[in-house]
Amino acid sequence: MTAALPRGSVIGCLGTGQLGRMLALAAAPLGYRVHAFGPDPIGPIRQVTSLSTCANYDDEAALAKFAAVVDVVTYEFENVPAHTADFLAARVPVRPGPSLLAVAQDRLLEKRFVARCGGRTARVRAVYGRDDLALAVRTLGLPAVLKTRRFGYDGKGQVVLRDAKPATLDAAWSALGGVPCILEGFVPFELEASVVVARGLDGQTRCFPLVRNVHRNHVLWQTHAPAKVSPEVHAAARQTAVAMAERVGLVGVMAVEFFVLAGGELVVNELAPRTHNSGHWTQDGCATCQFEQQVRAVVGLPLGALDPVRPTVMTNLLGDEIDDLDGLLADPSCRVHVYGKAHPRPGRKMGHVNRLS
Ligand code: AMP
Repeated sequence: MTAALPRGSVIGCLGTGQLGRMLALAAAPLGYRVHAFGPDPIGPIRQVTSLSTCANYDDEAALAKFAAVVDVVTYEFENVPAHTADFLAARVPVRPGPSLLAVAQDRLLEKRFVARCGGRTARVRAVYGRDDLALAVRTLGLPAVLKTRRFGYDGKGQVVLRDAKPATLDAAWSALGGVPCILEGFVPFELEASVVVARGLDGQTRCFPLVRNVHRNHVLWQTHAPAKVSPEVHAAARQTAVAMAERVGLVGVMAVEFFVLAGGELVVNELAPRTHNSGHWTQDGCATCQFEQQVRAVVGLPLGALDPVRPTVMTNLLGDEIDDLDGLLADPSCRVHVYGKAHPRPGRKMGHVNRLS
């Protein structure tokens, strides 16, 4: 087995948001430090680490300096530019590696990867231009979902098509900016669910239980953990996630989002090569949380045990909900996690609460 990085080593984190902040908080008890890199001077991670670089992701001089002072690089968002990841990977280990980033950044490559790993996805057609769209709609039928191949999140970068009138297709195509897209068949799911899987440098995998996700206005509102589905569905989710982690040689954590159909079949919606909002419940509901697993994996420590798992409901605190914490703070079943963001814009993720049951 490869030796773990010694205590005191520095984990470079691309991205300065709340996921990076919670990574830094999880690294400290294990004796590791986190150096934040990103363009936002007030990103939430900067409040919890003194090691930080404020620079754009294409600033090679800053990246070279960063690579020289960190021992390993990880990230907290999947839209790390490919050039940034490659530039760093030539100088320092980047975990997970750039190939998984490339897959997770492109919905078409992602679907093909899932299929290669034996997972099921929505039926899909590549749409390179407006003319392809009409053909794709005829092939897949309606309703269908048109999605940009890159940079979509929280329902942004997608349009549901319910009719095939030329005006409807024109409007959808231009609403998404005329960029390369995919058309997906509509999946009549019963519920949305996800898992976070971790894989260590030694190849060991640990998969957190499948959880149920409830969205409001396309933003994750609650995660119910574990999901109330049959043991067979839990096992199938775990098997799919582990197969993908092994196939891609994951070192780190990866989230897999699923649609669960009425008969319990699982359809993979998307992958995120990082910690995930639907994994925040693990901070209080599992013996080892997703952030500690990420630290352990990228520095080469053995992964932590998950058991005991305590049923938990995670609720995101959006916008000005963060200003009304008194009730939650007084409730002994609740653990509050605040991200330290200054401006509580409507719908912005400001923190979350884990309620143990
Ligand atoms: P995404 O950005 O791909 O995670 O999509 C955002 C949300 O849109 C999902 O959480 C689903 O609620 C819905 N959605 C996306 N793709 C489909 C699909 N093919 N069929 C049905 N609903 C979908």
